[in-house]
Amino acid sequence: MSTWSRLADAALAGNVISRDDARAVLHAPADELLALLDAAFRVRRAHWGRRVSLHVLENAKQGACPEDCGFCSQSSKFESPGGEAPMKSVDDLVDGARRAHAARAKRYCMVTATRGPSQRDLDTICEAATRIKAELDIELCASLGLLTEAKAQRLATSGVDRFNHNLETSERHYEKIVSTHSWRDRVETVRIAQRAGMDTCCGGIVGLGESEDDLLDLAYALRDLDVDSVPVNFLDARPGTPLAGYQLVEPGYALRALCMFRLVHPRTDLRVAGGREITLRALQAMALYPANSIFTQGYLTTGGATSHADHQMIKDAGFELELASGETVPADPEAMAAIASQPAATRRPSLPTVRS
Ligand code: SF4
Repeated sequence: MSTWSRLADAALAGNVISRDDARAVLHAPADELLALLDAAFRVRRAHWGRRVSLHVLENAKQGACPEDCGFCSQSSKFESPGGEAPMKSVDDLVDGARRAHAARAKRYCMVTATRGPSQRDLDTICEAATRIKAELDIELCASLGLLTEAKAQRLATSGVDRFNHNLETSERHYEKIVSTHSWRDRVETVRIAQRAGMDTCCGGIVGLGESEDDLLDLAYALRDLDVDSVPVNFLDARPGTPLAGYQLVEPGYALRALCMFRLVHPRTDLRVAGGREITLRALQAMALYPANSIFTQGYLTTGGATSHADHQMIKDAGFELELASGETVPADPEAMAAIASQPAATRRPSLPTVRS
């Protein structure tokens, strides 16, 4: 039995793979990459079948953030050409959810560039959440920075199913990347969201100049936090930020990192997140073997694959879509192309939008 097959068996039996084994995954030889992906896929298939869930990000409030996360072009501390935009209206956020639903997304995530949500921003997000949940069968996520117990409760009671707050990297490496809030602050917000009854989405970024130990620390810290979803991003260094000029990680390393996260997090909703397209290039479909979800229609400050391209990739690779209703449906690139060809003002979702 190969090492990778043994690790898959251990993960499927509910055992935590050792740190040495997780490290070995990051060092898998190129000749063994397919065997490693096969092992990760056995674990993914046991919990998620061949289903892929699509997630759509909505940059609800862009730029001018007072925090100094070194990878982020939305920080006011750096001279990056990220742009600024005020909080979107409730109507605009609801429209964004309609577009996400039309793209067969399982989840729509409203994001603000803030240290934490102001009362006014929270009012807007909560009103949008209530309207979206009344109209559409779609799961809702919010990513609004640091939370208090009261704010978390409001989000949960307004219909926000899941809260995102990434740890980004290990506690040790974090100090080199962010100074305006601590790694422990982030952990506390994840716990607050959990106590409010929301699912938690919490991951990180590969390529921040972290060591292998930092990446392993992140994977096990997320496991200890018992988060429901782990987005794994790959740094696409933004001009003007302190990390400008950092190189993309190698696609083979990106795939090995995803396999490591899958083997450490057998049951978790594992997402190949930002930087997917530019890092993995022709190998993007291979990420579906360890990961069971992707973002579609781009990211907060960078573009990405269209829904048409993502549906095509999922169909070609023999996977299918998981909707918020729990139904599994075929990917439909033709429907996505038809929506994209409509003038923006006349686009209409092609699935029923009223909850039954
Ligand atoms: S808190 Fe969020 S938006 Fe603000 S600088 Fe950090 S990553 Fe960027």
